[in-house]
Amino acid sequence: MASGFYKVPKAINEPVNSYAPGTPERDALLAKFKEMYAEKVDIPFYIGGKEYRTGNTVEIHPPFDTKHCVGQYHTAEKKHIEMAVENALEVRAKWAATSWEHRAAIFLKAADLLAGPYRYKMNAATMIAQSKNVMQAEIDAACELIDFLRFNVEFMTEIYSNQPTSSRGVWNRMEYRGLEGFVYAVTPFNFTAIAGNLPAAPAMMGNVVIWKPAATQVYSAQVIMELFKEAGLPDGVINMVTGNSGMITDTLLASPDFTGIHFTGSTPVFNSFWKTIGNNMENYKSYPRIVGETGGKDFIWAHPTANAKEVATAISRGAFEYQGQKCSAASRAYLPKSLWPAIKESVIKDVKSFKMGSPEDPSNFINAVIDAKAFKRLSGYLDQVKKDSDVEVIVGGGYDDSVGYFIEPTVLLTTNPKYETMCTELFGPIITIYVYEDAAWDETLDLIDETGEFALTGAIFSGDRYVIEHATNKLENAAGNFYINDKPSGAVVGQQPFGGARASGTNDKAGSVWNLLRWVNARTIKETFVTPKDYRYPFLGE
Ligand code: NAD
Repeated sequence: MASGFYKVPKAINEPVNSYAPGTPERDALLAKFKEMYAEKVDIPFYIGGKEYRTGNTVEIHPPFDTKHCVGQYHTAEKKHIEMAVENALEVRAKWAATSWEHRAAIFLKAADLLAGPYRYKMNAATMIAQSKNVMQAEIDAACELIDFLRFNVEFMTEIYSNQPTSSRGVWNRMEYRGLEGFVYAVTPFNFTAIAGNLPAAPAMMGNVVIWKPAATQVYSAQVIMELFKEAGLPDGVINMVTGNSGMITDTLLASPDFTGIHFTGSTPVFNSFWKTIGNNMENYKSYPRIVGETGGKDFIWAHPTANAKEVATAISRGAFEYQGQKCSAASRAYLPKSLWPAIKESVIKDVKSFKMGSPEDPSNFINAVIDAKAFKRLSGYLDQVKKDSDVEVIVGGGYDDSVGYFIEPTVLLTTNPKYETMCTELFGPIITIYVYEDAAWDETLDLIDETGEFALTGAIFSGDRYVIEHATNKLENAAGNFYINDKPSGAVVGQQPFGGARASGTNDKAGSVWNLLRWVNARTIKETFVTPKDYRYPFLGE
């Protein structure tokens, strides 16, 4: 067999299309949206490359137009989940033995297909079923997923090239292989890129994966499966199953061949998985790898030396893009009394200028929240704040589900820094602000650190370098992604590896070498060239 130390194409972040009026990409994407909106899809689940349609179906309704139906997906039964395991284990040996450059080529090809012929389909699917506007779809479904695929190939080669030193007469080597069993990937609704990356990253490293997307993301999940198939991913390397989350999870976590979980979603769901894995420990052949990126309660803190307009813009973008349904969305802010009037005026002006509606109209900055459950949760909070005396609505506060799940972007002001919406992840377009006395800026940093259970993202604003250094040190445990004079969202693969600690997850930094390391087992090989033939060491001499 021929060999070489192959160099992979240098990963470069996919350029983001602007979709400004008059651009060809705007026309092409909106035409694709229209075409797909008029169709009805019938989405199967996939085992061993075969499409399964059970007839037990769930309808797919765009969140911004709930009376419209764009199709349905079929749900699996327990026997199908068992088949998925059987099939994954069957294909495992061949996939694990496939050389890294051929695995890499598949995912590089997928990235190029997504950058080209699949771009508008993936973006339109994300706009329709996950209710993202053109820009939010572009930066997620196209660019971030392309980046994950390209950068992970580069990180994979970094891992393989990590080799020990050797002494005279000896050659030491490290070899890396996939885990022994199958990996279970469970993905959230809010990022098509995460949905693609969670199964793809372990698969790239030689693992077989059973993937369960979120119910509200199945529409773009199907496009991901089509993309991987066209890129040449062999049947069964990623089996995608849909249906009852509890049944699927219980069945997979009970298997002795379960070898790792790649999860992104909420903290309580991840905690329940961890407990189940703990209870099943005696059954497993290996200690499972447990990787979970979970919830956040992301903060913005401004020092009196900050620029009010910059802070206001960070709030308007950081709290409300994609309706605040980013794990990194700003949802609590701590602002000095001296800057509050200027920031307030600016944020109110911004929020009042936001247009809300269907993503088909690109001038809508705000679209619907994901589903009825989210609408009920968020409208419930808005009802409650109107009753509580220690909080007031500064702007927004309305909601309406007559056409779609629309929640107005809302700014709350509280006098109680431990008010519920300062502590709990709401996951919607609501930010709560606490105004502090300028002189209390340092104590406010303690307050941020102590409030709530999460440590995902956070942003500080100041014009004073001593203050910036002090706050950076003081908040070292408070955010896994920390921003200085910028909003706390919008991490880019390869530039800001993403993940948080505390109740925000295992902090394995998706789209980085640290994440990929979780999906390999290593073997150390020592080869001795002149092998001893006598047990006696020199010190034993007379
Ligand atoms: P979720 O926890 O409701 O769902 C995540 C996945 O778990 C879905 O596939 C869902 O079907 C599945 N699931 C839900 N309940 C389950 C159960 N009882 N048993 C088995 N599976 C179950 O989360 P979501 O609403 O899809 O996403 C939003 C959450 O994800 C937020 O908490 C957000 O902060 C978090 N998130 C975190 C990151 C990060 O990188 N830290 C990124 C994106 C989203």
